[in-house]
Amino acid sequence: MMPVHSVIRGHLSYTSISTTLTDVILTTPRVALCRTPATVARSGDTDMPPAGYGVGDFVDEDLSHVWSETRNQISMLLISVGLTETDGTRALHILRHHYHLQSNVENIIDNIRINIDANQKHCFLEGTVQDSVRGPEKEVAVFPVKNGVSLKTKSDIARALYVETHSVLVAWWAVTAWRSLQLARATWLHGDTMQIIPAAACARALIETAAAFWVEAGEIRERWATIKQETVKAGISAEHSRQLTILCTKGMWGAKFDKKVSRLSDTYGGIARTNILTQLEKLPRVTEYALPEDYQLLCNTVHPSLGSVLTFSGPFEVHKTETYAFQPLSPLPIRTTTTINPDKIETVSVVEDALVRAAVFASRVILKTLDHGLHVIDDVALTTGAPDIANFTYWRNIRQKGRNSICPCRSGRLVKHCSHGWGAAVFPFLSEFESPFQKATY
Ligand SMILES: [Zn+2]
Repeated sequence: MMPVHSVIRGHLSYTSISTTLTDVILTTPRVALCRTPATVARSGDTDMPPAGYGVGDFVDEDLSHVWSETRNQISMLLISVGLTETDGTRALHILRHHYHLQSNVENIIDNIRINIDANQKHCFLEGTVQDSVRGPEKEVAVFPVKNGVSLKTKSDIARALYVETHSVLVAWWAVTAWRSLQLARATWLHGDTMQIIPAAACARALIETAAAFWVEAGEIRERWATIKQETVKAGISAEHSRQLTILCTKGMWGAKFDKKVSRLSDTYGGIARTNILTQLEKLPRVTEYALPEDYQLLCNTVHPSLGSVLTFSGPFEVHKTETYAFQPLSPLPIRTTTTINPDKIETVSVVEDALVRAAVFASRVILKTLDHGLHVIDDVALTTGAPDIANFTYWRNIRQKGRNSICPCRSGRLVKHCSHGWGAAVFPFLSEFESPFQKATY
């Protein structure tokens, strides 16, 4: 039997079937098939995939290695930062209410006061905002803060608003982390059991998640870096915290529902989803990896089209009369040898290769962005002190301790040697990702 890794499949060009056949005639005048053994182990009567075959067996050694190496890395990162799978978090959303300019804000606030717990300190904010359609309006915002917190100055109140910002940033990060974990797990589970089409669907979604996450994290990082500079010059501003919150909110709540589903469109369509293709176009600029090729191959695999053929067929077997040909089809990759050059094993880019490369690359982008994004979010917590003002607990509500204790930001440095605060620099932008063939640096 041929070794499992000597796979030739899907090297057909579908641009012209006659070209394809000519090509096959020239390169593989006769094909000896070695089909998947019929007696593949099955687990009892259950409808389980054939045991013993994984995508790592059908790609070359280097890809097989990175496939194994990357399998658990997102899960390990989440464990290393203390986000267990039973943990949750909470995000504060301040529901700002708008009123006519002539409204009596005293009455509005009195009415709100009736319904809140007198033992819980609340921050009441009122101001005038410019609505793009309705013109100037009064805005009222009320949210709970930790008892004992001083809200005497404008700066105190602006700091309190960072509770919303920080808890929403954490929520955005956690939701992306959980999504990535599910998609990566499913990609590997399906890949390891040769369920190539669902694996491709998951890998494709993993790539899209990676692109969107990296773009959003970059925008949040840029905004935060600017906010830090502006705050040093002009002091804490409520507008700043709002800008960061809005960036996360767009990432988390952006949706695309059209009017054919008007109920969903009305409920979730308020924030337009950023076009994923726009986000995907940015990622290839920071890597040598040919991402668009593999992404499109995976998309075609997921759609009911060419991908199915590439997944389940081998090269044509052309009769020596060159008058007819057979196309071998099989649920597992078909191993072939040619009579022209039996020693030469040609490896052609197929769905399995694209799947492994894309899944490994997407995981690397996600891993680095998770790590980098959390550094930025922790810096928001330690610079603003928002977790000290929150009246609720949430994941990653880290606080600065004594100058001689270890900083909770994962730098490993003592607080006195770590640099947070409005004047301190923000982590640099993530501007490069290794291709799946390069050694990863974490
Ligand atoms: Zn630190």
